[in-house]
Amino acid sequence: MSQTLTLLRLQQTDSRMDAIRSRLETIRLTLENDRNLVRARAQAEATEAGLKSAEKALRAAEAEVEGQRIKIEQSENSLYSGKVRNPKELQDLQNEVASLKRYLVTLEDRQLEAMLKHEEADENHQASLAHLSQVRSQVATQSASLTAENDSLAVENDRLVSERQAIASALDTRTLTLYEDLRSARRGRAVAEVSDGACEACGTNLTPAQQQAAKSGSQISYCSTCGRILYAS
Ligand SMILES: [Zn+2]
Repeated sequence: MSQTLTLLRLQQTDSRMDAIRSRLETIRLTLENDRNLVRARAQAEATEAGLKSAEKALRAAEAEVEGQRIKIEQSENSLYSGKVRNPKELQDLQNEVASLKRYLVTLEDRQLEAMLKHEEADENHQASLAHLSQVRSQVATQSASLTAENDSLAVENDRLVSERQAIASALDTRTLTLYEDLRSARRGRAVAEVSDGACEACGTNLTPAQQQAAKSGSQISYCSTCGRILYAS
């Protein structure tokens, strides 16, 4: 195998390992912190709090109505007990009952309003619980496939590590260092193939002499624009 072909193989192996590393990181983050699940959980908590406060408001409104009914009953009892005979006092009592009854209507309206709000809060909470359970099952399905992908990528990566070792052993230390330096300086890509007379990495057109030099492979030739090692088949 020519030196440049060996370098190309090394580059292909490294690029694949880079892609695997990046995908494994994405999978790790996805499994750790599924955004939809976090959001659905927060929504369910918020609607639960809303329901609790609506319940509290409804109980309070019911107690007020109940309290007002007791007051009315007590006033009516005094009114019809026959114990109060003074016309002025009787009139006052009648006025009081009438006023208590008027306010009861207001309190009953408030109770009805509280009931409607409670019903709405309950519906919201039920809907958010249903959504949460739907997202949970989606995440479980997704997790299973991501875990499987994670495992198969890890196996592939192990295989590539030994393949890379075998490829790199065919190169001398100086060439290997040159490759590594170029790779870190050129965003992971040190070797570019010549395709249709141009450098595949940067698109620069190469002269026939440059193409021929890349093809011979006896000496390493570089793209004059991006500086990458050229390989031509
Ligand atoms: Zn180039």
